[in-house]
Amino acid sequence: MDYEAVIGLEIHAQLLTDSKAFCSCTTRFGAEPNSNTCPICLGMPGVLPVLNRKALEFTVKMALACNCRINEFNRFARKNYYYPDLPKNYQISQYELPISENGFVEIETSQGKRRIGLTRIHMEEDAGKLIHDETKPVSYVDLNRTGVPLIEIVSEPDIRSPEEAGAFLRELRAVLVYLGICDGNMEEGSFRCDANVSVRPKGEQALGIKTELKNMNSFRFVERGLQFEIDRQIELLKAGERIVQETRLFDSATGTTASMRSKEYAHDYRYFPDPDLLPIRVEPALVERLRSELPELPTEKKLRFVNEFGIPAYDAGVLTASRELALYFEETVKLFPKPKMVSNWIMTELMRRLKGEEHGIDSCPISAEQLAALLRLVDEGSISGKIAKTVFDEMFDTGKDSSAIIEEKGLVQISDQGELVEIARKVLEDNPSEVEKYLEGKTKLMGFFVGQVMKVTQGKANPAMVNQILMEELKKR
Ligand code: ADP
Ligand code: ZN
Ligand code: MG
Repeated sequence: MDYEAVIGLEIHAQLLTDSKAFCSCTTRFGAEPNSNTCPICLGMPGVLPVLNRKALEFTVKMALACNCRINEFNRFARKNYYYPDLPKNYQISQYELPISENGFVEIETSQGKRRIGLTRIHMEEDAGKLIHDETKPVSYVDLNRTGVPLIEIVSEPDIRSPEEAGAFLRELRAVLVYLGICDGNMEEGSFRCDANVSVRPKGEQALGIKTELKNMNSFRFVERGLQFEIDRQIELLKAGERIVQETRLFDSATGTTASMRSKEYAHDYRYFPDPDLLPIRVEPALVERLRSELPELPTEKKLRFVNEFGIPAYDAGVLTASRELALYFEETVKLFPKPKMVSNWIMTELMRRLKGEEHGIDSCPISAEQLAALLRLVDEGSISGKIAKTVFDEMFDTGKDSSAIIEEKGLVQISDQGELVEIARKVLEDNPSEVEKYLEGKTKLMGFFVGQVMKVTQGKANPAMVNQILMEELKKR
C-alpha cells in the first residue's frame, strides 16, 4: 500500500518591538539574566498588563500579508499550565477569538505552485528560559524572555512533504523579515516551529494520528525530522501497529526522534478570557492604514524581477529570498544595467564568498558600486572574466576597488593587436605538429592554441581577439 504524509506547522515568531507585549521592559537579547524584568512580566499578583500597540500592528501586517481575515473584535485568553519558566502559571495567548483567521501563502516546489492554508495568526507572549548546568544537578531560570511578544501562525494540514514544509517555512520567514517585524534569527529562537505529521493510505480522506516535533529551529532539522517521522510511522502501520499521539524531540546528532511526553489537549489548558485585559477592537481604518504601509513582498518582488529585468524565475527566487540581497542586486543593476550578468556574479562568486565567511549581505565588503565597476571592466574587455574572478576575491578580502587591484598587480587585459599577433605566431611556430594536425581537420586543437596564448600572457590576453587572430594566422598556413 502507498502512503502519503500530512503535515501542519505551528510557527512562533518573535516580534521586533522595543518593549515587551504587556510591560515596558526591553526585549533586547543577551542581557544579564533576569535584568529585563518588572513586576508585570515576573507575574506578581495584582499587576495589570497593557497591550503594546506595535505588537498589535505588526500582527495585523503579517495577517494582511498572508491573506487572513482580520477579526475586528478579538481578545486574549489565559492558557493555563505550570512550568518553572512561567511564573504566572498561565500564558497570555488568544484562543476562541484570535486577531486573524483563514489565510494562505503560496509556495514554489519542484511540483509547481502550491497554496497552503493558514488556520489563524494570533498574538501571545513568550515564556522564560531554563538553563541547565551539565556539571551540577541544578537548573537556572532566566525570565528576560518572559512577556516578549510573539505571533503564532498555524497552518492547515495542507503540507504533503518535508520539502514543502521547508519551502513554506522559508516563505513565511522571508515575509516576516520583509515586513520588518521579525529578525528571523532561528539560532536565537526568533523563528521556530512545531511540526505536526501523520501518514495515511493514498486516496484516504480522513487524517491519521499525528505526532508533533517540538521547537525546531533550523529548516534542515525540520525537513530531516519530518522525513524520519514519516518513515517511522509508515513502518509501524505496515507492521500492523498503531501510532501513538505524542510529542517527540528530534535529535540532530542521530537524525532520529524520540518520545518526549504524551500529547496534551486544548481542554487540558482550561483556556478562558483574560479578565485583566480589555477585549480588542481593530478598527477598519487602522487595518487600511497598515495595508497601505505594506512593502513589496517576496513573491511580488520576484515577479517584478522576472518582468523588469528579464532574469530567470530561478535567479529571481534566489535574489529575493532576502530583502537585503534583492536591494544589493537592484543597486548594482542601476549602475551596470546588464541584469543577467549581475545576477550570475551575485549567485556564484558573491554567494560563494558570503557563505564561506558566514557573512550576511549586509556585511559584504564589496559595495554595489564596486561590483558594478568590476563588471563594467569585464564588459568593456579591460579584463577577462577569469581575471575578474581573481580581482573579485581580492576585493572581497581587502575591500579595495577593482581598478586599484588591477593596477597594482598589472592585470590589465592585452588588447593590442600587434602584440597579440606576435604571441600567436610564436605559439604556432613552437607547436608545429599540432598545427599540422589542425590543418588536417582536427579543429578542436583551437582550444589548445588559445590555452597556450593565455599561458604566455598569464591569462591577460583578450580572448575574443586571440580567437580571431589564431584563426587568421592558421588560415595563412
Ligand atoms: P492540537 O489540538 O493537537 O494542537 P490542532 O488541530 O490545533 O491540533 O492542530 C495543530 C497543528 O497540527 C495544525 O497546524 C494542524 O494543521 C496540524 N494537524 C492537525 N491534525 C493533523 C494530522 N492528523 N496530521 C498532521 N497535521 C495535523
Ligand atoms: Zn516587564
Ligand atoms: Mg492546537
